[in-house]
Amino acid sequence: MPDITWDLLSQQVEQCRLCPLWQSATHKVPGQGDPHAPLMLIGEGPGQREDEEGLAFVGPAGQLLTRMLSAIYLPRDRVYICNAVKCRPPHNRTPLQEETDACKLHLRMQFVLVRPKVIVLLGSTALKAVLGQDHFITRERGIWIQRKGVWMMPTFHPSALLRDPDKKRDAWKDMQSLQSKLMELQLYSDIYGPLMTPS
Ligand code: SF4
Repeated sequence: MPDITWDLLSQQVEQCRLCPLWQSATHKVPGQGDPHAPLMLIGEGPGQREDEEGLAFVGPAGQLLTRMLSAIYLPRDRVYICNAVKCRPPHNRTPLQEETDACKLHLRMQFVLVRPKVIVLLGSTALKAVLGQDHFITRERGIWIQRKGVWMMPTFHPSALLRDPDKKRDAWKDMQSLQSKLMELQLYSDIYGPLMTPS
């Protein structure tokens, strides 16, 4: 097995035909951000804008996510952001389990490369792709669990907040919980340097 590198990851994603989603993709969307970020965010899959630009979370949901991160002093370029599937599902439908299963190969490589200390799972698809099909966003939202030394919290996908603004109150609680976790683990100093930790 060759060493896992960012070049290998982007080559593998680019050439991937492990599920049928490659057929409807204009661009593959592997993810982007700080390659050694202490915080990784995982969403569902690329939408139209993401598919056009080859970048994750650049459409309206991505812009909302950027504002949510800013509210807890996290610049987008200091975290790593990707999706459970790297190709846009037709008509933005939810990825099927066999598609997220196939794409896990790339997600696992991203875990190895980034080595995040904290992961936020944005929505049901990311939650099930990472923790398993027996996990439910409505039941587990906002609850921290630790797997192999990594803290993980599911919360709503920003698209769900755009569709249903009533969810924003809970999402904000989750952002505050994320801020507390990053402070508890002293990870803001990894993000900003030791002298810059929000009070
Ligand atoms: S969604 Fe993932 S597994 Fe499916 S073709 Fe695209 S990169 Fe490959």
